[in-house]
Amino acid sequence: MIELSTPLSEISGIAPRFLNKLKNLHIETVKDLLWHFPTRYEDFSKIYKIAELIPHQEATITAVVEEVRNRRTWKRNLYMVEADLKDDSGIIKAIWFNQPYIKNVLAPGRTANFSGRVTISKKDEEFYLSNPTYEVLSTHVNQETKHTARIVPIYPETRGLTSKGLRYLIKPLLDNIGELHEIIPFEILRNQKLPDINYALQEVHFPTDIEEAINAKKRFAFEDLLLLQLYNYKQKLERVAEKALPIKTEISRIKKIIEALPFELTPSQKKSLWEIIQDIAKPHPMNRLLQGDVGSGKTVVAAIAAIETAQNNHQTAFMAPTEILAHQHYKTFTKFFPEFESGLALLTSSEAKVFYGHHLETNIKKEQLKKEISNGKVKIIIGTHTLIQKNISFKNLAFVVVDEQHRFGVEQRDTLIKKQKIFPHFLSMSATPIPRTLSLTIFGDLDLSLITEMPKNRKTIITKAVSSTDREKAYAFIRTEIKKGRQVFVICPRIEPKEANETLSAFTLQKLEMKNVKEEYEKLSKKIFPDLRIQMLHGKMPGKVKEQTMRGFSEKKFDIIVATSVVEVGVDIPNASIMMIEGADRFGLAQLYQFRGRVGRDKHQSFCFLFTDSASISTRERLKSIVEAKNGFELAEKDLQIRGPGEFFGKSQTGLPDLAMKAIQNPTFVSESRIAAETILTADPSLKKNPALRLRLQAFQKQIHEE
Ligand code: ADP
Ligand code: MG
Repeated sequence: MIELSTPLSEISGIAPRFLNKLKNLHIETVKDLLWHFPTRYEDFSKIYKIAELIPHQEATITAVVEEVRNRRTWKRNLYMVEADLKDDSGIIKAIWFNQPYIKNVLAPGRTANFSGRVTISKKDEEFYLSNPTYEVLSTHVNQETKHTARIVPIYPETRGLTSKGLRYLIKPLLDNIGELHEIIPFEILRNQKLPDINYALQEVHFPTDIEEAINAKKRFAFEDLLLLQLYNYKQKLERVAEKALPIKTEISRIKKIIEALPFELTPSQKKSLWEIIQDIAKPHPMNRLLQGDVGSGKTVVAAIAAIETAQNNHQTAFMAPTEILAHQHYKTFTKFFPEFESGLALLTSSEAKVFYGHHLETNIKKEQLKKEISNGKVKIIIGTHTLIQKNISFKNLAFVVVDEQHRFGVEQRDTLIKKQKIFPHFLSMSATPIPRTLSLTIFGDLDLSLITEMPKNRKTIITKAVSSTDREKAYAFIRTEIKKGRQVFVICPRIEPKEANETLSAFTLQKLEMKNVKEEYEKLSKKIFPDLRIQMLHGKMPGKVKEQTMRGFSEKKFDIIVATSVVEVGVDIPNASIMMIEGADRFGLAQLYQFRGRVGRDKHQSFCFLFTDSASISTRERLKSIVEAKNGFELAEKDLQIRGPGEFFGKSQTGLPDLAMKAIQNPTFVSESRIAAETILTADPSLKKNPALRLRLQAFQKQIHEE
C-alpha cells in the first residue's frame, strides 16, 4: 500500500530523470507530489465530432489515425509530425513540432482521444489541431482517461515537467493511495460545506466538474488557514497563562518626559504609547506589534515605555537588526532623554558604552558591561542580536523591543524569552505596511498599535514613474542635486548579471534583463558620473563591509550608493534626498514604499524616481498607486485586493503555504477559520481527542519556525 510518507524513489515506474526534476521542485514523497496542485484546468470533457469543430476552439475528438508523416520545416528547421485523423463525421489534420516519437505511438489504425486547439491554416484555410494532447484508447470499454475527454489539470509549469508528465505520475498514486485520515473535525467541514480530504484530493487533480475542483482547493486552503489560526490561538492561550512583571506607570511622570521632547507627539504616537503602557501594567506578558511608516516616529514611543520600565527598576532590551541602527537608537535616547540617569547601555560587536545622564558617557569593556547587565546596574540595553547571546544574562528583563521585527527569526526571539525567569513584555516595531486582515492572520497572536500619520512639517516626496527616454534628464537632475550637497540611492532588483551555475529558464532569461547592482555601479561610476563618489551595497557583501559602507554614506563619504533591497531596513540618512529605483516593476508595492521612505527625512525637498520599461497597463497602475499613496496601510490594503498577498510581499516570504496566502484575501474565510480554531481549542485545548490534527499542527509549527 502506498503511504503519504513513501519516498517517490520507492515507487516503481517513476524514471530517475523524473525523480531528479521533482527533487528540484522539493517534491520527494508521495505527499509532496499529491499536494502539488494544478493551477488551473482545461475543460476537454465533451467529445466533439470532427465536422462540428469551429476555429480557435479547445476541443476533444475521438478519432482513428489514418496516416502519419514525418516532415521537416526547412525555414525554421523544425521537426514535424503530421497525422490524418478520422471519425464518422470527417477528417482533420493534426500537427506536432519536435516530437518525432509521436510517429511510433500513433500508428495508423489506432484509436485515440485528441484534445487541443482548432487552428486554421493561413495558407489554405484548412482546419487542423495544433499540438493536441493525445491519449491512445485501448480496446476495452470505459477506460478512464487522464489527459483527454475530461477536465484536465494544468500544473505549474517547470522546465522538463509537463502537465502531461505530472498527470502520468499522479493518477496511479491517487488510484492506489489508501484512505486518508481527515484532520478537520466533521462538523466544521459540514458547516463550511467543504469536502473531506479523500474526495478533495481526487477532485483537486481530476475533477468531475470545475465546481468540485474549486471546492476541493478551498478545503486545502481552509486546512492551512485553520492550522495557522490554531497555531496563533494556542500561542496566545499559552502566553496569557504566563506571568510577567507588571510595569507601573505614572501619568504625571510620562507627561513630563513628553513635554521635554523637542517636538509634539502625533495623536497616533500618543495613542500607541497609551496602549503599550496599559498593556505592560498587566501581570501577563504583552505581545504587541507597533506598525508605522518609515519616519513615523516609532522609536520614541518604545523609548518612553522603556524609560518607564527603568523607573520600575526593571530592565529593557532594545534590539536593532544592524549595528548602525543600534547606534542610531542609542543616539536618540541620549539626545531626547539627556536626564536619564538609571543606566543606558549600547552593546554591539564593535561598541560597548554606558550613559548615566547629563553627558556622562563612557566606553567600557564588554566584559564589564555584561557584568553590569547581570547585576542590574544598567537598565536599558540597546544592541544587535548580540543581546541574545548565551553569555549575556539579565537581572530582571521585563521588556523587549525589537526593531524591524521580520529580520529576527521566531526561534531567536524565543531563545531570548525562554532564558528569562519570568516572561518579558514584548514589543516589535515594523514599517512594513501590512494590511490589517493579513497581520491579524499571520501575526494572529499579536495585538496591534498603529501609527497612521507622519509628524508635522514633513514635506511630501515628489514621486515620478520615469521611462527610459527620460533617463538622461533624470541623471542631469541628480547631478545638480549632488552639487547642492545631497546624496542619492540607486536601487536595482539584482546583484549580478548572471550567476555562474544558472540554467536559462524563461524566468531567468527575463531576470537577465533586470538591472543589476554590479553593472549599474560600473556604468554610473565610469560613464555617467566619473567625477562623483559612488559605492555599491548588496547582500553578498560581508556584514562588516555592509556596515562600513552604510556608515560611510551617512558620514557623507560618497554621493551615490548603488544597492539591492538591503537598504530596506530603517537606516536614517537625512541628507539623502533622491531615491532612484531601477526595474521598479520588479518590486512589490510594500518594498517600493519602504525604499521611498529612505528619503524625505530632513528639510530638503526629496524625490523618488521609479524607472520602468514595462509598457503594461497594470504596471503603470501599480506604480501610480505608489505615487498617489498617502499612507502605507491604505496602499497595502489596496495592493492586497488587486494582486494578492504573494505579490504584495514581493520576494520576501511569509512562511505560509500558497493556498493559505490566497485564502487570506477572503475575509470571511479568515474569520471562519479563526472561529473554527477557537471552537476546537476551547473544547480540546491540547488536542487529545484529535491526535492526527495535533501531529499536523506540530509539523506546521516546525515549518513556520524554519522560515
Ligand atoms: P521610524 O518609525 O521609521 O523608526 P524614527 O523613530 O526613526 O522613525 O523617527 C524618525 C525621525 O522623526 C526621528 O528623527 C525622530 O526624532 C523624529 N520624530 C519622531 N516623532 C516626531 C514627532 N512627533 N514630530 C517630529 N519629529 C518626530
Ligand atoms: Mg525605525
